Amino acid sequence: MKLFTNKKKLQNEIKNTNNISFVPTMGALHKGHQSLIKKSVKMSNKTLVSIFVNPRQFDNKKDFFAYPKSFKKDKAILERLKVTYLYKPSYSDIYNFKTKNKIFLHPFSKKLCGKFRVNHFYGVVDVVNRFIEIIKPKKIFLGNKDFQQLFLVKKHIQKNGINTKVISCRTIRNKKFIAYSSRLKRLKKYENKKLVEIITILNDYKKKLIRKRIRHNFNYIKNKLLSAGAKKVDYVEIINLKSLKKPKVFGNNCNLFFAFYIKNVRFIDNF
Ligand code: AMP
Repeated sequence: MKLFTNKKKLQNEIKNTNNISFVPTMGALHKGHQSLIKKSVKMSNKTLVSIFVNPRQFDNKKDFFAYPKSFKKDKAILERLKVTYLYKPSYSDIYNFKTKNKIFLHPFSKKLCGKFRVNHFYGVVDVVNRFIEIIKPKKIFLGNKDFQQLFLVKKHIQKNGINTKVISCRTIRNKKFIAYSSRLKRLKKYENKKLVEIITILNDYKKKLIRKRIRHNFNYIKNKLLSAGAKKVDYVEIINLKSLKKPKVFGNNCNLFFAFYIKNVRFIDNF
């Protein structure tokens, strides 16, 4: 695996390659990342993984600085998975050029996390666009755990006629149904227990919504999560993945979307 920290050097290396697959990450790699990377390596000749904790998508400075880092371990994982290139740029390497494409933010960016994290999705789409302009990948691999991010990147790519195919990847969970997340590293053991309890409550709630065909009641579920140890609940919503509407009753093509805090650590997922 070749490591690059500078886009000019990277571009010089890949200038004659037109079939690169790209997996963007913020590092602290876990089994979720690894499944995206494995899929990419399987489907492509060359896989480029980026590690960049993008300050512009954090609405909270403390959260940005507390973001877990494990570069040595990450590098070993990427070597083992037979990744071709690792790109770990500096802030200025990503932001010191003017982009060709205009950032397109679909109105879905105003929903769910968009209501609570000001400028977050602009930051996400902008940074992914910058990586795409530098790398010009044939494919980009993104996880359904961050469904809103995946959807918005897809819409931006379509709107700008960018020749990069979005490959959506399933969410990888542990035995307790917790989606792997870099932020898990910020929880103590007893806080992790709270997380298990909260996810179990949400999963049971979803099953009940389906089985009994009852209407979603945000205040009811919010209070249950707060009693189980969530510090704050931003939203729990049913979303139809095709229409992006918010039905009151859980129907076909729907997932339960949620965001909550345990101490100052924010978790999102959908299932
Ligand atoms: P991040 O490093 O959190 O920015 O995530 C990088 C990519 O990995 C994104 O496309 C995420 O959606 C994806 N991802 C994060 N967690 C998981 C998971 N548990 N299972 C599958 N994909 C994931």
